[in-house]
Amino acid sequence: MRHALAALAAAALLAPTATPAAEGKGKTEITWYGHAAFTVKTPGGTVLAIDPWFGNPKSPDPKAAETLPKVDYILVTHGHFDHVGDAVALGTRTGAQLITNFDLGKALVAAGYPEAQAGFATLGNIGGAIQAGDATVIMVPAVHSSGFASEKTGERGGGNPMGFVIQVKGGPVVYHTGDTDVTMDMKQIPERYGAVDVMLACIGGHFTMDPKGAALAAGYVKARTVVPMHFQTFPVIPGTPDELTAALKGKAKVRVLEPGKPASF
Ligand SMILES: [Zn+2]
Repeated sequence: MRHALAALAAAALLAPTATPAAEGKGKTEITWYGHAAFTVKTPGGTVLAIDPWFGNPKSPDPKAAETLPKVDYILVTHGHFDHVGDAVALGTRTGAQLITNFDLGKALVAAGYPEAQAGFATLGNIGGAIQAGDATVIMVPAVHSSGFASEKTGERGGGNPMGFVIQVKGGPVVYHTGDTDVTMDMKQIPERYGAVDVMLACIGGHFTMDPKGAALAAGYVKARTVVPMHFQTFPVIPGTPDELTAALKGKAKVRVLEPGKPASF
């Protein structure tokens, strides 16, 4: 009887078939820290931190670089301060390997990132695929700029800006767009790496695509769920999730993450 009830309960849980198969596994945890900063925890326990600017105005935890218990890889899309953020401090404390383009990797090492954690194994460039525990991180194009500056290095080049496609083993395909406008290049993402289950998409406008652009991009990558980011951190990036929802016209689900609260995918 207990088994029958358990089977019924399981069937009830599985019932909403509108939820794509790759979601609902509930094993991959994505936490938004405001702006473009996220952590992704895979089913195997690998923790990736992306664009870790924990001091952003919408951050739930400005001291997260000092307190996050485990980070295995730090992914940085480009050299601007609002994306590099606390990468050096976080990498130094946690021992995380740095995944970014070669030039920005060298710049971050010059700024203090531990050199042994930023070698050929994890620095690459667009087209490269980096094995990161039970995830594969693919560097994809973004149309933006990527200058880097720090007290130690002064101003220097930060290589090509990029986005990341993260194929989680036994979990979703996650795409962090970085800062970019819509590009035709996005159309190759589902063709080469699989339809995107979770698109972490900049929607603020001014420096990046706006909500209408993000909706178009979501179609290009065949996104099932769009998580908006990089909006309203400052008045100059005014796009809203409601505008994104309207522009998508039901073609993908919008899921607004609550900063600091892990969401399952
Ligand atoms: Zn930015």
